[in-house]
Amino acid sequence: MSRKDFFIIAVDGYSSCGKSTFAKAIAGELNLLYIDSGAMYRAVALYSLENRIYEDGRIDAERLKNVLPSLTIEFHLNEKNGIRETFLNNRNIEDEIRTVRVSEIASTMSKIKEVRERMVSLQRMMSNSTGRTDGLNGVIMDGRDIGTVVFPHADMKIFMTADVDIRAKRRYDELVSKGLAADYDEVRKNVVLRDHQDETRKESPLRKASDALLLDNSHMSVDEQMKWFLERWRLIQLKYEGGN
Ligand code: C5P
Repeated sequence: MSRKDFFIIAVDGYSSCGKSTFAKAIAGELNLLYIDSGAMYRAVALYSLENRIYEDGRIDAERLKNVLPSLTIEFHLNEKNGIRETFLNNRNIEDEIRTVRVSEIASTMSKIKEVRERMVSLQRMMSNSTGRTDGLNGVIMDGRDIGTVVFPHADMKIFMTADVDIRAKRRYDELVSKGLAADYDEVRKNVVLRDHQDETRKESPLRKASDALLLDNSHMSVDEQMKWFLERWRLIQLKYEGGN
């Protein structure tokens, strides 16, 4: 196989597995563009809440479908903190989309076929290698359907999981560190609910792609996860360099 100059890595898995921390570390190491697909579903949730498309558990599907094509969701690098922050219709929503409430509604909105179709199309556009001048070596995207639906031909697929209590604790700590009010039991319930909704929905349910590598990081540090990754990445590189 010939040398490649643009790689796609798909990272899927359960809520609060540390997918974004892991994917960001890989993006830094390999000079890849990191795309947080969950932030895009969160942006749709925030918009729906603010504009009463979602209200009292009901969704105005008609209005949602009409507005979807005109929603702009983008990521802009904040030079000060090095974070690619989420923008909805040119407004920075990075902090607002991280609350437990928005997580819950994101999971509900992500069941809708038209929402998924629009997000997948945006995700593929953002990852297009044609005409890129940013000098990046590829894209790493994390989510629930990246290896199964968005990039079924990704160069590498990873499916992450971890013990539910460990995941709830991680999400709780993350919220607290950001100064967001959090109750551990509520956070744990939200994690369990989102797993259930993601796994049982009709459209693109959360599944491990048959060719994805399984990573259970319950008892692994970020450094250990990177070591795990780099060992496997080397084998993929060898394949493209014709060395194996
Ligand atoms: O990854 P994150 O927790 O930010 O995602 C928020 C919600 O968006 C998830 O609970 C999931 O329901 C949904 N999602 C999805 N497909 C993706 C990414 C996220 O359905 N690719």
